[in-house]
Amino acid sequence: MGIRQVAVLGATGSIGGSTLDVIARHPGRFRAAVLAANRDTASLAKLCERFRPDLAIVADPSMEADLARRLAAAGVRCEVASGHEAVTQAAAGPLCDTVVAAIVGAAGLDSTLAAARSGKRLLLANKESIVMGGALLLEALRQGGGDLIPIDSEHNAIFQCLPGGRPDLHRSGVRRIVLTASGGPFRGRTRADLGAVTPDEACAHPKWSMGRKISVDSATLMNKGLEVIEAHHLFAAPVDSIDVVVHPQSLVHSMVDYLDGSMLAQLGNPDMRTAIACALAWPERIEAGVAPLDLAAHARLDFEQPDTETFRCLALAFAALRTGGDATAILNAANEVAVEAFLAGTLPFLGIAELVERVLEELPAEPVVDVQSLVERDAEARRVTRDVLHRAYC
Ligand code: NAD
Ligand code: MG
Repeated sequence: MGIRQVAVLGATGSIGGSTLDVIARHPGRFRAAVLAANRDTASLAKLCERFRPDLAIVADPSMEADLARRLAAAGVRCEVASGHEAVTQAAAGPLCDTVVAAIVGAAGLDSTLAAARSGKRLLLANKESIVMGGALLLEALRQGGGDLIPIDSEHNAIFQCLPGGRPDLHRSGVRRIVLTASGGPFRGRTRADLGAVTPDEACAHPKWSMGRKISVDSATLMNKGLEVIEAHHLFAAPVDSIDVVVHPQSLVHSMVDYLDGSMLAQLGNPDMRTAIACALAWPERIEAGVAPLDLAAHARLDFEQPDTETFRCLALAFAALRTGGDATAILNAANEVAVEAFLAGTLPFLGIAELVERVLEELPAEPVVDVQSLVERDAEARRVTRDVLHRAYC
């Protein structure tokens, strides 16, 4: 096989950095052909200097000239582009055969869909896109005929524990999918303890180092809620066959429970490079830079039920999935606005779940028709969320 030409969308982020680390370990196998980021041109230019891609894209058009200037100053000769459309086009374009969808939030929807439609290998980190438009993404994948390999660690674990990656669960004798959750930085706290927690406390994850949005989602357990929805779509798993268990050591990344009583789990140190390397090289296995798991040193694995009374976002996500239609897209949009407001200091931590719940009540779910209508509903849900936010908290 030739060298895989990889587009890293969200190259300056946490997943982007882990992906580039794995790519750098295997120059004969992978090449970073396209690097895209939002507006951090200084970091993007540095990555271009190191990885020499064919194309560098900055999503914010006002930053294109700055990126071009930095690249010229560093002597890097690569094509430069800007804008949301340029990212989407690159995901489907001829420069890459593999796309790492690692943009955060709904901003990643179009490029994820474009990669799926074009039949490339899609490494999905951007869970918000599948939470918004799961059915549309699966249809795009079917049309494109490429493979999707999840790099969210839980879904990658499940992928590894299933025969043949993403088979028919019923025929494969799967009883349940069990997603593990670390419980986040506030595990064991009560609602009374959480009234005044700060963004920095919420982002101080005990086991994983991640971007700020997903870190807050981990603290509210919305991340696990989004992952339940992601698992439902990726593995065609009925909602009642998905369970969540809190496992604070974050060594078991998820499990598949079979009818014969077998439960298969995937374990490893909490480092995203394992899932990324697995997905880049699949079905082969390659070195990822991750230390072997020393079970005796860890000594114990604990498991407990999630506290959905305190961390209500998980229950809200299950409820939105049961409602169906575009309820999960509304949940996602409301959550993105709420997390931004929390990070900006205008919404208390417990307000995130309250806001999401209010918006789900105000906007009854509708069927998902196409991408256009989904994007409009996403915008509407954001407007309603900002409205409720101003009325209730500002
Ligand atoms: P991050 O904030 O560290 O990085 C986000 C990246 O997206 C940055 O490169 C940023 O420039 C880019 N970006 C943001 N808005 C953009 C836009 N409009 N257009 C183009 N690029 C844009 O986030 P992260 O932690 O790397 O997470 C990325 C995605 O992966 C999220 O969907 C997250 O839920 C998922 N994920 C992350 C982890 C993790 O360990 N970090 C684990 C599982 C899943
Ligand atoms: Mg995860």
